[in-house]
Amino acid sequence: MTKIFVTKSFLPPIKEFKKLLEKIWSNNLLTNQGPLLKELETKLKNYLDLENLHFVTNGTIALQLSFRALDITEGEIITTPFSYVATTSSILWERCTPIFVDIDSETLCIDVNKIEKLITPKTKAILAVHVFGYPCDVEKIQKIANKHKIKVIYDAAHAFGCKYKNKSLLSYGDISVCSFHATKVFNTIEGGCLTTNEKTISDKIELLKRFGHNQDNHLTLGINAKASEFQAAMGLCNIQHVDGLIKSRKKISDTYDKLLKKYIKRPFVPKNLEYNYSYYPVIFENESQTLSVIEALNKEDIYPRRYFYPSLNDLPYLKNHQNCPISEYVSKRILCLPLYVDLKINDVKKICNIIISTLKNGENY
Ligand SMILES: *Cc1c(COP(=O)(O)O)cnc(C)c1O
Repeated sequence: MTKIFVTKSFLPPIKEFKKLLEKIWSNNLLTNQGPLLKELETKLKNYLDLENLHFVTNGTIALQLSFRALDITEGEIITTPFSYVATTSSILWERCTPIFVDIDSETLCIDVNKIEKLITPKTKAILAVHVFGYPCDVEKIQKIANKHKIKVIYDAAHAFGCKYKNKSLLSYGDISVCSFHATKVFNTIEGGCLTTNEKTISDKIELLKRFGHNQDNHLTLGINAKASEFQAAMGLCNIQHVDGLIKSRKKISDTYDKLLKKYIKRPFVPKNLEYNYSYYPVIFENESQTLSVIEALNKEDIYPRRYFYPSLNDLPYLKNHQNCPISEYVSKRILCLPLYVDLKINDVKKICNIIISTLKNGENY
């Protein structure tokens, strides 16, 4: 039996990649903002309809750079507990303090109505996540940020290709960050980007990502966040396929929807979202139901993931515990079901049947 995991990386036809490898060999440039990287940045800007974009080694370093680019080196960052660990770890790594605001139980994004009462004179920014590619309440967040003169950073790692109100979801906030990790909708093996509408912030990122110097002028403390020509080559191959990838993901999601609708709760998705079908999260009634479903699927060599568990406010290396009951409750009950381009519709049906029969068996107790 072939194992079915929550995701499977997309690889383009190898001859497309080989063609670009030949280009790298003939250019003899492996990194340092080479021609393939430049070409990829241009293509990404066009595809995502963005003014400024920096392709870097990964999404985590992009998050860390975003603090530096906004001159945030200390203080409190308002953030969500329901995300991948990199959202919180980047705050800690930059020696700031995460202040967790609980999530909205329907959208699973940060609850905008709970932000203001946690803002203090030490608050520097809001780092919110468009979790699973579902948009935060971007207008309300911007309003709060303007009122309190703090910055807005979006961890838009899941939001590649999502459009909200006819605009790229990556175009909101002072800086938005995306991940192009192998498991994401669009991948460059490892990789990520920062986007901003502000030319001055973009110029700062340009400097920071390459050691902070311009020829012999050392202008600021920087780091190495440069992506290589090999990562750019993978990006150039995959960008050609991404529309098709999103389409096939939609087909699988639609099948799940049709088969599971009657049985399982799903996050709320706003109407004016053009979605990328990056994940298929389902929320069960309680943790024991969730665990029984995992067990039943594992028996058939199917491995969904508990995205996201635990709730990040429960991380063991945090100094103090902050309560986020909704996020903790959702974290215990949520599963992401397998979703990738060549997942067979018959396998989707099988997964749904296992889930439905597990739920039905549970009712007999
Ligand atoms: C994947 C991911 C990241 C980290 O991106 P990398 O490219 O793996 O460093 C950050 N935040 C979220 C929400 C993610 O899912």
